[in-house]
Amino acid sequence: MKAIVLNGPNDFSLQDIEDPIPTAEEVEIQVRMAGICGTDIHLLRGKNPFAAYPLIPGHEYMGEIVSLPAQSDLKKGDRVTVFPAEGCGTCEACKAGRLPHCTEFKFIGVRLPGGCFAEKVVADYRRIFPLPGGMEDEVGAMVEPTAVAVHANRRADLGKGMKVLVIGGGTIGLLIAQVAQVYGASQVIVSEPLDERRSLARHMGLELTCNPQDEDLVAFAKRNMGMADVVFDAVGTQKTVTDAGEILRPGGHLMLIALPHIENLGISYRTIFAKELKAIGSRTYFMDDFPEAIRLLGTGHVTVRPLISKILALDRFAEGVELLEREPEKYIKVLINPALSAEGRDLQKPK
Ligand SMILES: [Zn+2]
Ligand SMILES: [Zn+2]
Repeated sequence: MKAIVLNGPNDFSLQDIEDPIPTAEEVEIQVRMAGICGTDIHLLRGKNPFAAYPLIPGHEYMGEIVSLPAQSDLKKGDRVTVFPAEGCGTCEACKAGRLPHCTEFKFIGVRLPGGCFAEKVVADYRRIFPLPGGMEDEVGAMVEPTAVAVHANRRADLGKGMKVLVIGGGTIGLLIAQVAQVYGASQVIVSEPLDERRSLARHMGLELTCNPQDEDLVAFAKRNMGMADVVFDAVGTQKTVTDAGEILRPGGHLMLIALPHIENLGISYRTIFAKELKAIGSRTYFMDDFPEAIRLLGTGHVTVRPLISKILALDRFAEGVELLEREPEKYIKVLINPALSAEGRDLQKPK
């Protein structure tokens, strides 16, 4: 099969390799749509400390079942998405589906080989989730990032009437903001410096947006909603964390969503103590966040179409990565379709 093989930092190419061979517990899947995310770009550029080379990167995808073990109640041809990480399988956390709490937790396409930028993948049948019949492939490939947003909202105990600030208007930030609205937030502010992403947010029904380079975010938030019950920080810089501490109400939740780029939190002891804040890490998802993400996308409560900027064939993977790096104002999510041989097509752009 054809696959993107990453041998080390910046050293990746399309190669012809052996098909993966499923074990007695694995489903074989023909990949139909796979998303490139920020984690992949960090990995390709040698900025992910967990990377275990060589590997096939990629963890956001959907595809069609080619073969499957007898234990699975799915069938050949079913369209599915996959929980793209593994734990030990035997500890309490694994048994409860809380895989990130397993000490052996490893991401496929980062610390384990077998990512989705390939024609085929194999995955344990217990990590497979069927997609509803009417769900388009493009939407199915966005279940994984939507599960990240579901998980963050669940960990934040998001509920009716809450005031929410989301820092960072990329794929994850915009999905978190949408899920917060669905879960009953009364006000949601999205802070994002890129004009195009702020207008995309407004297009998706997130009307309160702030350009933190033009206007002080703390002042903007206080003027427009008062103090926040929850701040989701999807950027994770010293500045964003400090701002979050000022904007949060006493007892508020500071949600740390971004990959750690800074060593220390950078929020003052006094702020956390005086306001009795909770700082909560939200790393990926639990098993039961996937069916909820599928439900939110299937019912149209959460929309991902406007986030999808382009779909490319597998042999144009490197171009997809470059577009995301070079023109973040234009490209938010680039999807790879390993079955697509024609020229990549531009999807309808949001107005
Ligand atoms: Zn990702
Ligand atoms: Zn475990």
